[in-house]
Amino acid sequence: IKSIRFILGDQLSVSLASLRDADPDHDLIVMAEPNSEANYVAHHRQKIVFILSAMRHFAQELREKGFAVCYFDYENQPTNSFTDALKLALKHHPVKQVIVTEPSEWRILSEVEKWADTFDITLDVREDDRFFAPLSAFAEFAENRKELRMEYFYRQLRRTTGILMEPDGKPVGDQWNFDHDNRERLPDDHRLPSPLTFKPDTITQALLERVVEDFPNASGKHESFGWAVTRQDALEALDHFIEHRLPLFGDYQDAMTVKSSTVYHSLLSGYINVGLLLPDEVCRAAEVAYRNGNVPINAAEGFIRQILGWREYVRGLYWHMGPEYGKGSYFDGRRPLPAFFWDGDVAMNCLHRAITETLDNAYAHHIQRLMVIGNFALLSGLDPKEVGEWYLAVYIDAFEWVELPNTFGMALYADGGKMASKPYAASGKYINRMSDYCSACQYNPNKNTESDACPFNALYWHFLDRNVDKLGRNPRLAMPYRNWSRMNGNSKTALIEQAEHFLTQMDTGKIPKPSHQP
Ligand code: FAD
Ligand code: SF4
Repeated sequence: IKSIRFILGDQLSVSLASLRDADPDHDLIVMAEPNSEANYVAHHRQKIVFILSAMRHFAQELREKGFAVCYFDYENQPTNSFTDALKLALKHHPVKQVIVTEPSEWRILSEVEKWADTFDITLDVREDDRFFAPLSAFAEFAENRKELRMEYFYRQLRRTTGILMEPDGKPVGDQWNFDHDNRERLPDDHRLPSPLTFKPDTITQALLERVVEDFPNASGKHESFGWAVTRQDALEALDHFIEHRLPLFGDYQDAMTVKSSTVYHSLLSGYINVGLLLPDEVCRAAEVAYRNGNVPINAAEGFIRQILGWREYVRGLYWHMGPEYGKGSYFDGRRPLPAFFWDGDVAMNCLHRAITETLDNAYAHHIQRLMVIGNFALLSGLDPKEVGEWYLAVYIDAFEWVELPNTFGMALYADGGKMASKPYAASGKYINRMSDYCSACQYNPNKNTESDACPFNALYWHFLDRNVDKLGRNPRLAMPYRNWSRMNGNSKTALIEQAEHFLTQMDTGKIPKPSHQP
């Protein structure tokens, strides 16, 4: 054995930089399920089972290719950290070289970087080229720019990859962005196709049986587990999405409904984030479906923008901002996370649905994460650190590099606008327009200060009013501030009092319930 190839839990791709040139005769694969990873937040039980099962299947796949895999599972060979696992591996296989693909987050990078000194080995940290853009491309993009907006980085990547581009260099459909077509509300009688789910095999089943007992601090329910845990099944999920769900992905991208927790979303984020699917093959599959005439341009472009645009941009931003990103709070949010985030027991139907679905499935789609849960956290001034820990725990796809910019930057605007050009703050009227939640809610989205008024309405104005010094000059908020200044004094006072009453009650653990039904 000449070298150790150390594979992390989100590096489950055979084409990984540190595996590509590996030789079964000379290289040893090392993988580990250390304590430190299982416990840094109260991970959702499905997330734990998903990652561990996918890792175990991947190790098996490598063994079938002839590799020796030294695997430290949490049950039989427990370790406290990746460093701990490497130490044990080196004890039995004293090699001089360790090869690893760069970790996806600061926390693990700083651990890995110490290995050369700690173990007196040559450490080869290779670039993670599963992304479209190397980190140097984002650094170049960011240089001399005052504002780092996704749209421009995305256009640059469309050009360099040629995805959805015409030979003459123009974007397909003569437009970069079809967002204006992608804001439909679901018609009442619309029937939604279900996403593909997978029956747990013996490896997954064994983990599902142990997860409650073995991970006592974990959150969420494990019973509905239906995730793919192998590349082969993830590819099947991709094909199923492209055929059955992508055609209407665009139209209903922002829609929310009590009838489905997934609408037309792909549910592919977990697979892409751990490496079972590569972003390039996912985007190309969507492009082929468009070019074959099977999906409209607003769907193909809308979907590709999420991966080629948002996902790449968010990763670039995370590394660009440095390890201190995520500290502090632009609006000084200090309110602790209400208990209902952990059980969904809240009368506001939109929040109740989005949180309960999250805890049941380790999944909520983007608009639920952003415009219901994130919007509530923003308007009510919750502590960004506690909110961030919750998001990092409860979603199947949650890894810090992607969770943090989305939560801290996009949903909470806690970075003061490094990521978003304005806070994604909205009243109950937005949620009513994009969902059918309100008709089954005890609150009324069209009321502002009555006892059954939707809490989002007063909270929205309270948020704008209390942050006027920070937001009052933002041109994108000129309209709501103008409306606020035109409102008569009594209405303003009533709204502020309504919001303050709500927040005080929430602090005591009791959100005021409406005194009469709508
Ligand atoms: P689809 O709607 O089908 O989108 C397709 C793909 O695009 C996704 O699979 C994902 O890979 C990518 N994508 C879409 N939006 C984003 C985005 N904003 N940033 C990065 N990639 C994106 N995504 C994560 O992968 N991990 C997280 O921890 C995470 N935390 C989030 C927290 C908040 C507060 C918000 C607002 C968003 C977060 N997102 C996160 C982004 C997005 O909500 C999820 O990627 C998406 O909901 C996953 O479901 P899907 O696969 O069905 O996505
Ligand atoms: Fe949510 Fe308000 Fe609608 Fe109730 S009325 S579902 S709280 S937006």
